[in-house]
Amino acid sequence: MTVTEKKLIGVDLGGTTIKFAILTADGDIQQKWSMETNVLADGQMIIPDIIDSIKHHLKMYEMKADQFDGIGLGSPGTINFKEGTIKGAYNLNWTDSVYPVRDIEEGTGIPVTIENDANVAALGERWKGAGNNADDVVFVTLGTGVGGGIIAGGNLLHGANGAAGEIGHITVDPHGFLCTCGKRGCLETIASATGIVHVARDRAGEYAGDSELKAMLDDGQDISAKDVFDLAKKNDDLALIVADYVCDSLGFALANIANSLNPKYVVIGGGVSAAGDFLLDKVNKAMRVNEFATIKDSTELRLASLGNGAGVIGAASLIKMK
Ligand SMILES: [Zn+2]
Repeated sequence: MTVTEKKLIGVDLGGTTIKFAILTADGDIQQKWSMETNVLADGQMIIPDIIDSIKHHLKMYEMKADQFDGIGLGSPGTINFKEGTIKGAYNLNWTDSVYPVRDIEEGTGIPVTIENDANVAALGERWKGAGNNADDVVFVTLGTGVGGGIIAGGNLLHGANGAAGEIGHITVDPHGFLCTCGKRGCLETIASATGIVHVARDRAGEYAGDSELKAMLDDGQDISAKDVFDLAKKNDDLALIVADYVCDSLGFALANIANSLNPKYVVIGGGVSAAGDFLLDKVNKAMRVNEFATIKDSTELRLASLGNGAGVIGAASLIKMK
């Protein structure tokens, strides 16, 4: 006789798309779909849209609420776990508190768990991606900003006020660029996609050698973080200077996280991580220089493996962690 385990639903709510997946208890995706996020009218349609979409798909797949252990939802904004509310998700136009736990439970008849979006991506990579389901995993995502999530001893860290894992605001240069958070030299001002471009422009000003990147900037062209890494791979002198500085800064910050948490894996994801092994090798070298022996021997740096599918998987894993 086979025991049928209940299934999970993962929802990854973003500023432009809402991704959904139905997963087995082991985290294998069975169905997935997505819809546009309707941020009009203060984002009032978002929660009703999520409810309708789940109900519509369950009907389509001939499934019922009692076949599910729960719905996990990853969302931008500040989560109040006690109240089940989210506020300050400005890219969704949510300024006041919204009640996804109450409303989605009422609408679907399935229990709901919520978590912030950077943390669900960390949980996804930990469960089914590069984190290899280890108990101690640090995840850093390099996108428009730098985000992160820390799993220690099998638990996701929230901290006293929900800000644990905000790796982007680790200070790596106290006299560096001004960050959106108000202080200087945060990792985000250097290693995010926008930070990398900022570093390139800054270094180009004082650079006098022969470089295609320098020529592009002098020509007034828009450059991206990808351009910097693509040119660095081709040994462009200025691009290499920028890439080395970015990777040294990232390796320095990650080494200090590793020195205090001794994770099994440190996982790098987000758009910038598409630079692949070139980035990984440079960051790894910088990390090793700044780690003490026990950490060097037991903490491994890896590239994320799930891409933008990490969110729905991590959201679903919230139900297993309850
Ligand atoms: Zn900052």
